Amino acid sequence: MLNLVLFGPPGAGKGTQSQKLIDKYQLIHLSTGDLLRSQIADKTELGLKAQEYMNKGELVPDAVVIGMIADKIKGNPAAKGFIFDGFPRTVAQAEALDKMLNDNKIPISGMVALEVDEAELTQRILLRGQTSGRADDQDESLVKKRVSEYNTKTKPVADFYTTQKKFTSINGIGEIEEIFTNICKVVDKLPQ
Ligand code: ADP
Repeated sequence: MLNLVLFGPPGAGKGTQSQKLIDKYQLIHLSTGDLLRSQIADKTELGLKAQEYMNKGELVPDAVVIGMIADKIKGNPAAKGFIFDGFPRTVAQAEALDKMLNDNKIPISGMVALEVDEAELTQRILLRGQTSGRADDQDESLVKKRVSEYNTKTKPVADFYTTQKKFTSINGIGEIEEIFTNICKVVDKLPQ
């Protein structure tokens, strides 16, 4: 079983590369951002609560996203593997994920990080905002807040996987296909 964590700041290209990895390795895509936006669209209680944080560019509380991921893992017992996109975003989330996966005897195979500098990120997100319809992609101060949340709360998650010898980082600037090839080279060497 291949369980991959795709890591990187907002705008690093995790969504784009996830889609390509799913097609190639037949994985189930677990994107907490997508799951939260679908809860918001359905106007659920969870969605309304999450929206308050997302509108400010802040992370949604750990318990909310951890519960959502746990439900999805339980709901897919026959999965060939999962790709985690935008999760874990805090060390507490990483610890909870390890526990969930160990309980189900399916460890994380590895984390691949996409490295993109801050100027490029801001530019990419604001460009995406012109077509994505996402309010948090259209306001530069919100984009900055999301990057600062990433720097303070999410970056330590890389150390968590480095300690477990599961961390690899890749240049996230360049052609989409070239980046994908580089990710696949890492993935093909991971234990499955
Ligand atoms: P991006 O990576 O471009 O910021 P996402 O769709 O992954 O886009 O996330 C959008 C927003 O959803 C984040 O700014 C945050 O508020 C919330 N969110 C998504 N995933 C998580 C998570 N794992 N923990 C906390 N908040 C999250």
